[in-house]
Amino acid sequence: MPVDPLRVISDLEELRALTADENGAQRIAWSPTWLKAREWFQGKLKGLPVEHHYDAAGNSWTTLPGDADRALVLGSHLDSVPNGGWLDGCLGVAAGLEVLRGFTEDFHGRPPITIRLVDWADEEGARFGRSLFGSSAFAGTHTIAVDRVRNDRDGVRLEQALRLCGVDVEKIGDAGVERKNAAAYLELHIEQGPVLENMHLPLGVVLGTKGVERHAITFHGQEAHSGSTPMTVRRDALAAAAKLALEIRPIAKKHPDAVATMGSVKTFPGIVTAVVGRCETTLDMRDLDVEVLASMLSEALAASERFAAEEGCTVDWSRIWSIEPISFSPRLIEFCDEAVRETAGISHRLPSGPLHDAAEVARTGIPTVMMFTQSLAGLSHNKAEDTRAEDLKAAVVAFDRLARKTLKWLSV
Ligand SMILES: [Zn+2]
Repeated sequence: MPVDPLRVISDLEELRALTADENGAQRIAWSPTWLKAREWFQGKLKGLPVEHHYDAAGNSWTTLPGDADRALVLGSHLDSVPNGGWLDGCLGVAAGLEVLRGFTEDFHGRPPITIRLVDWADEEGARFGRSLFGSSAFAGTHTIAVDRVRNDRDGVRLEQALRLCGVDVEKIGDAGVERKNAAAYLELHIEQGPVLENMHLPLGVVLGTKGVERHAITFHGQEAHSGSTPMTVRRDALAAAAKLALEIRPIAKKHPDAVATMGSVKTFPGIVTAVVGRCETTLDMRDLDVEVLASMLSEALAASERFAAEEGCTVDWSRIWSIEPISFSPRLIEFCDEAVRETAGISHRLPSGPLHDAAEVARTGIPTVMMFTQSLAGLSHNKAEDTRAEDLKAAVVAFDRLARKTLKWLSV
């Protein structure tokens, strides 16, 4: 049976009606609305010959058993940011469900290998600031030792919120048992950026997720009176930071897919009548190539020291967080490329700037690939997030093709 893309769109509309308000989607992980979304999903499984359970980290697993235990895994996430869009995450779950329905019918309920669909718990990290929660527990890269004491805005601790959803924080590592037999992982997601739209393409093949270097950079100068301090003797920490903010742009532009952002600047004392004595900034750099990322980082470091010296300041760096670039499976990239080409006539390969659950899965060595569909105006994490109906339809058809190619590969 060919997949029915209109059924996917109507499922998504149903979910939106159930879990969004006038400001957008409100499926924040560990909230009642999120649980409602998951209950809705379980309702959709009625009549399918599948087993469903939640693992130790709250990931939702739907399994269609096959002749072989080895499993093709499809997945994404139903949780959203507050005031989120109607497609981020749930498109991949709804499309995965449709592929599952198609396989059930085609193989009379018993495919040659096992097919699984996962809805990862708390991909967004919107409430506690810990993204990829469920998939990192699955991958064994979770950081619960430091995360357990995280609080939300109302002072609720992460472990309390999890307990209310039936998840014991001590045990989330047990989600690793779900890795057993997982032979490939596929994820469909909206692009959340403008690349495909600018190229007038409905679909893209994701090469991997960019590595991230995230640092706090502080320039130290000398606070001084803004009226009495001559320009020639100032040690202005903001001036040094400002030079760096401009310099990271040519540093990133040397590489086609690299990005660099200074997203936060705080000045001290931060008053209109004082030269800035201390300036705290942040830098976030991303690229798919580990060497490009390393060279961007060392260039930024050298530039910051140069500018600090020029302004009579000093600078210090501390790493906030980093993750290495994660490349997807070359074979699955080929399958995805074929599926996109057969559906849209043309394909394009691109890295993902945002992180996704697929990155955690790929880290475990399970062959993984993602497919992107175009986002209108590159908007996401916003109620205005949208994708043309014709592109959504193409995405479902192409994703089904990718799943079939992968199933065939795993079946031999
Ligand atoms: Zn997402």
